[in-house]
Amino acid sequence: MSERAAHISYLKRCIEVSRMARLSGNTPFGAILADAEGEIVLEQGNIEITESNCTGHAERTLMEKASKSYTKEQLWRSVLYTTAEPCAMCAGSIYWGNVGTVVYGISEKRLAELTGDDDQSYAGPALPHRVRARAQVYSSNRAVSGG
Ligand SMILES: [Zn+2]
Repeated sequence: MSERAAHISYLKRCIEVSRMARLSGNTPFGAILADAEGEIVLEQGNIEITESNCTGHAERTLMEKASKSYTKEQLWRSVLYTTAEPCAMCAGSIYWGNVGTVVYGISEKRLAELTGDDDQSYAGPALPHRVRARAQVYSSNRAVSGG
């Protein structure tokens, strides 16, 4: 499997996690963490609504768990996959957690275009530069990589 095909496979899993978040009453966002060997070690959906936690985004919540379970060296070699480009809060938690690579399915700009003027939309600062970000735009019949 090519690196690109692997990224898309992980992003598909993120979408499944986001569906589970939606089914549980939250917004449909999901994140997973793959270790240096490519094994999925954590999965996290958004918990903002059901937990009444304004910081319950999938990525930030995943990073809280990741930092309790893995060293910064391990996290540097890990890849965080997420359905959408992390917001400033989540990007901060990814930065401070020391995850080396982030792959996201849709940009924050594109998400805002699709969702319109929603109070969850936020066009904030981009990922800190230390984190290597890759945008993966996925649809059912094609995939385009950028970033
Ligand atoms: Zn966030």
